Amino acid sequence: MGDLGRLFALDQAHVWHPYSSASDPGVPCLAESAAGVRLALRLRDGSAVEAIDAMSSWWCAIHGYAVPELDAAAQRQLGRMSHVMFGGLTHEPAVALAERLVGLTPEALQRVFFADSGSVAVEVAMKMALQLHVGRGARRTRFFTIRGGYHGDTFSPMSVTDPVGGMHSLFTGILPEHLFAPAPPAGVDVADDDPAMVEWERATRRLYAAHADEVAAVIVEPVLQGAGGMRFYSPYAVRVLASLAREHGALVIFDEIATGFGRTGTLFAMEQVGVVPDIMCLGKALTGGYLTLSAVLCTREVAEGVSSERAGGALMHGPTFMANPLACSIALASLDLLQANDFRSQVAALQAGLTRGLAPATGLSSVREVRVLGGVGVIQLREPVRVAQVTASALQRGVWVRPFRDLVYTMPPFVTGPDDVSAIGEALVGAVRDVHG
Ligand code: PMP
Repeated sequence: MGDLGRLFALDQAHVWHPYSSASDPGVPCLAESAAGVRLALRLRDGSAVEAIDAMSSWWCAIHGYAVPELDAAAQRQLGRMSHVMFGGLTHEPAVALAERLVGLTPEALQRVFFADSGSVAVEVAMKMALQLHVGRGARRTRFFTIRGGYHGDTFSPMSVTDPVGGMHSLFTGILPEHLFAPAPPAGVDVADDDPAMVEWERATRRLYAAHADEVAAVIVEPVLQGAGGMRFYSPYAVRVLASLAREHGALVIFDEIATGFGRTGTLFAMEQVGVVPDIMCLGKALTGGYLTLSAVLCTREVAEGVSSERAGGALMHGPTFMANPLACSIALASLDLLQANDFRSQVAALQAGLTRGLAPATGLSSVREVRVLGGVGVIQLREPVRVAQVTASALQRGVWVRPFRDLVYTMPPFVTGPDDVSAIGEALVGAVRDVHG
C-alpha cells in the first residue's frame, strides 16, 4: 500500500467525519493545498484534481486561500505568541478586534465575549439571556424561534435548531423544549400583507402570547436560514419576532454566524431588517476562514444585568482558547481586506453571476426552485440529493460542492472572478442534470 492508500485506509479506520456513519463512512477527497479560490485535491485512485471551491469551506473562506495579507498577519503574530489564556490576561489583538467589532456594529452593542466556535457563541448568547432574567428575578427559561433554523450542534444551539432537521426526536427528554413558530413564508420580497405572511404572523403571535411570560429571548438568523435549509425570508418577519420580544420583556438574539461579514450583500443581515439586537453572534468568516473564532456582542444593559449580584455577578463562561491571539490578528487583517476589497461590489457581482449561471436549472424536471441572495446560490431539488454522485459530477467539471438534503448550493469566496462564477453555475447545473435529470 502506497502512502496515499495508507492515508485513506487510516482515515476510514479511525477518523470520524461530520454528519457521517462510522460503519459506512463514504470516501472523502484528500485536500493537499489551497490557493486563491482553488483546492488541490487528490482522489482515492491517485488522480489529482484542481477544483474551484464553491463552498468557501463551509462559508468562511471569503477571501479564498493562501491570502498574502492573512498569511502575513498570522506570521507576525506567531512571532509574538500564538496563544495565551484570557483569564487575568489580555492582549492587543483581542482588544483591537473588540474595538473594531463594536465600531462595525450598531452603537448599542458595546461588550464583546470571544469564544472559539459558532456553537459556543450561541451557547454563550443563550446563557447571557437566561442569566439576565435570573438577575431580574424572572423565571424565563424558554427560547422562541422559527422552524427551519440552525444554530449549531452542541445542546443549547441544537435545542433551538429546527426540531426535524436537528433530530430532536433522538434526544427527547434530554433536550430542553423551546418554542417554534412556523417558518415564515419563503422569499425576502414577500409583502407584509401577503395572505401567507398574514397567516404566519397570526400563528406566531398566538404561540407567543400563550408563552409570553416564559420567553427569555427570541433567537433567529436574520433573513437567511443557512444550514437549516438555505431559506431566504422577509425582514418583516424578523421585525415581527423582535417586536414580540420587546413588547413582552424578552431579549432579541441575532445569530449572524452565517450571514455576518457580507454574505447577504450588507455587512450584517440585520441592516436589511432595521432592528438592533440585544445580543449578536458572529463566527465563520470572522477570520476569513483561517482559524476558529467567534464573538458574542451585547448591549451595556445585558452586560450589566448579567454582572449584577443577583445574576451571579459574572458571566460564567471561559473557553480555553477564547480570544486566541492568532485568530484575532487574522480577523483584524480579514476585516481590513473586506473593506479594501469593497465586499459590496464583490457580493453584488456574485449575485449577478449566480443568478445568470444557475438560471438554466429552472428548466430541469428534478428542480423545485432556484434562488439567489447575495453570495448564496441554491438549487433545490424535488428529492434528496444523491450527494456522492452530484459531488463527483461537479468535481469532473472542476468545482467542489457539498450538497445536503435536497439542496445543491454554493457560497463562493467573495474573490471568485466572473469566469469561475460561470464555471460554478455550469458545474452545479450540469451535475444536477446528469445525476437527477
Ligand atoms: N449558527 C449558524 C447560523 C451557523 O450557520 C453555524 C454553522 N453552520 C453555527 C451557528 C455553528 O457554528 P460552528 O459550526 O462554528 O459551531
